[in-house]
Amino acid sequence: MEKDDKSALHVLDGVNQPSQVNPYLNFDIMPKPRQLKAEDYIQGIVAGDRVLLSQAITLIESSLPEHYKLAQSILEGCIPYSGNSIRIGITGVPGAGKSTFIEAFGKLLTAKGRKLAVLAIDPSSERSKGSILGDKTRMEELSVDNNAFIRPSPSAGTLGGVARKTGESLILCEAAGFDTIFVETVGVGQSETAVGNMVDFFLLLMISGAGDELQGIKRGIMEMADLIIINKADGDNLKRAELTKNQINNALTLFPPPPSGWKPKALTVSALFRENIENVWKLIHDYCSQTKENGYFDHNRTTQSQERFYSFMQEELLTSFYSDTIVNEKIKEAQNDMLCKKISAYQAGYKVLETYLKRKNK
Ligand code: GDP
Repeated sequence: MEKDDKSALHVLDGVNQPSQVNPYLNFDIMPKPRQLKAEDYIQGIVAGDRVLLSQAITLIESSLPEHYKLAQSILEGCIPYSGNSIRIGITGVPGAGKSTFIEAFGKLLTAKGRKLAVLAIDPSSERSKGSILGDKTRMEELSVDNNAFIRPSPSAGTLGGVARKTGESLILCEAAGFDTIFVETVGVGQSETAVGNMVDFFLLLMISGAGDELQGIKRGIMEMADLIIINKADGDNLKRAELTKNQINNALTLFPPPPSGWKPKALTVSALFRENIENVWKLIHDYCSQTKENGYFDHNRTTQSQERFYSFMQEELLTSFYSDTIVNEKIKEAQNDMLCKKISAYQAGYKVLETYLKRKNK
């Protein structure tokens, strides 16, 4: 090398590379990390091993076919150990105070000795770079609490896909001994219904004075809620929060009584100052006692399983149908024939279905 070549991209003369410490070391005969089997994961999860729990959730979230198979075997092994928890859905528009509330409520529960897993459904998180739970620092205390496990939303996929992954992760968390599960979602879209279909108790977080339209609170979401929390009931905002609470409590009396037999309520809290949080737990506790006694609790879980079963099949069928290129060509052809009035809409549809079924029966 030319001595006057100053480019850092060239190797300069310097210290010689030391020789290998053990020149006889043969990397080929060194033990490779053992590939874990479904059984290893199941045993670890049931024993409460968080590392294995996290890895199994990563397998569930993976789109690789070999991961899918392993994840399904793990799930199957964990199902008998699942179900022993209270599943709580938490929704509210961005800024309503969800993470502040989860931190406050979560700490209260772990202090009572409960084991809490916090999951999320946020199909938008890839676009928004994880708008919820993506950043664990939002829950500083909870993220270092030994009795809490926080897992951000799976970051890619359709709402159905993301919800399925969260629902399956929930089963693994229960098998790992978590007796309280929070499922957080941003209350701006369809994801509330997905959360509502996998939880026992649904909690809607609101703030006073934001206007219903601003909070994206559609009547449907309010009807789903078992408890409406008016957050930020502190300082100058206290009076307004109380007023909103009364208005909502009045509005709730106009809704038809829910099948649970439980009367939904509104409650003011301050997540920031950790006020009235204990009452939230008391109400959830009352709800569980009441619905376990009248049979709704178990009935609801059975209905939810059935809904998931059917909606999963529907979604998979649709994906398989519309992702088939030959079927897509047939759709164009049949649609053309229909628009040219050569065949009826039913005949067109039938032709496409025939093509699909033939391809599946091959
Ligand atoms: P999220 O987007 O729903 O998760 O909302 P955050 O928990 O991030 O809260 C949004 C903002 O509201 C933050 O600046 C919080 O400090 C604030 N905040 C949350 N809860 C309360 C509360 O009870 N009182 C007051 N005054 N501020 C709060």
